[in-house]
Amino acid sequence: MKTDSSTDVLVIGGGVSGMSVAYGLARAGQRVIVLDQGDDVFRATRGNFGLVWVQGKGVAKPPYARWSVTSAALWPEFAAELTRQSGVEVELSQVGGMRLSFSDRELTRWAADMDRIHDSLGSDYPYERLSAADVRARIPEVGPDVVGAIFSPLDGHVSPLRLLRALVQAFANLGGKLSTGENVEAIDHRGGEFHVRTQKGRYAASRIVLAAGLGNRTLAPMVGLHAPVEPVRGQILVTERMQPFLRYPTLHVRQTGEGVIQIGDSKEDVGFNDATTVKELGRIARNAERYFPLLKTVNVIRAWGALRVMTPDGYPIYDVSQECPGAYLVTCHSGITLAAHHAGTISDWICGAAAPADVQTFRANRFHVQNSTN
Ligand SMILES: Cc1cc2nc3c(=O)[nH]c(=O)nc-3n(C[C@H](O)[C@H](O)[C@H](O)COP(=O)(O)OP(=O)(O)OC[C@H]3O[C@@H](n4cnc5c(N)ncnc54)[C@H](O)[C@@H]3O)c2cc1C
Repeated sequence: MKTDSSTDVLVIGGGVSGMSVAYGLARAGQRVIVLDQGDDVFRATRGNFGLVWVQGKGVAKPPYARWSVTSAALWPEFAAELTRQSGVEVELSQVGGMRLSFSDRELTRWAADMDRIHDSLGSDYPYERLSAADVRARIPEVGPDVVGAIFSPLDGHVSPLRLLRALVQAFANLGGKLSTGENVEAIDHRGGEFHVRTQKGRYAASRIVLAAGLGNRTLAPMVGLHAPVEPVRGQILVTERMQPFLRYPTLHVRQTGEGVIQIGDSKEDVGFNDATTVKELGRIARNAERYFPLLKTVNVIRAWGALRVMTPDGYPIYDVSQECPGAYLVTCHSGITLAAHHAGTISDWICGAAAPADVQTFRANRFHVQNSTN
């Protein structure tokens, strides 16, 4: 059958993971085509909270803690480079982030988790346990119910939509091709090449990267890979613009560069359903008012639901197929935080560099091991 386009690498999925990898590959001189289904499907990239977040991640898995910390450390240079390459400012602010608590017991538990991560990583993991007065000194608008916070100077936030725009533009400026409205229906591996069929055309390449979010579940077996990803819904509220008052992003409330307040801390197991519900939005709004009472009188202008791309243990999957050499899988639930690594370490690996030891621990065979011992 006739092939419409042939290239070095095909990337399936034009969300933040696919575009980060594609950008890194194009920067390394590869000819890359990204095939993306489009805006009317589930895309965590367009519905997320925009945190570049480190604290609390990897308590039970030091490689994940290290992977998150090192990606966050790469972010300032990554953001500056993207802006140079694309002309798009991604609104990165990394002045530290807070996880606010209404309970001393909870705070003690979180601090113990931070100590565990600190012990496994050594001096690369600074954090402070803040009292209510410490929090108030940094954010005077905080409510009386907040008893303290964990502050990590490594945390920050970015505009996820600007990030996607910057990646798409920088990729195009490097000669990359993004084709949208392309639902990948079949991948065939023959003669050392991957042949991909969409309803719009046929493509061939010697390497293929599956970065299709929840779509990876169906695509992975076509090239001998395994992607047991499931949707986990999050709902987010956005208010009208306010005077700047929240210098530090918190895990549940952040103020964007444009001044709006984003509120969101929901996690729901409801399958492929990205609707919003009054009950859940009401819950997150009430919590936000307890964190910051001045939000009581602010108008909400938008709300949405979006589906996280979640693996059974919550860690990313980076894998390469034994059955079809040249096929890679990249999927994770913290694609904003990890974008700097995806554009660097992971694209270098796909270009032929040895995978760092930490990356080896994120292969999908960890799920087979768990199954066989259960
Ligand atoms: C509510 C919420 C809050 C979040 N907050 C944060 C946060 O603060 N910080 C953080 O780091 N992460 C956060 N995340 C997670 C982050 O958004 C995701 O990890 C990231 O968007 C995953 O990107 P992705 O490109 O892998 O997947 P997606 O964004 O889902 O993109 C997958 C792409 O693949 C395409 N695709 C699927 N199937 C096919 C197919 N068959 N053919 C062609 N294309 C296909 C789709 O069109 C889509 O564009 C949050 C997620 C949610 C839902």
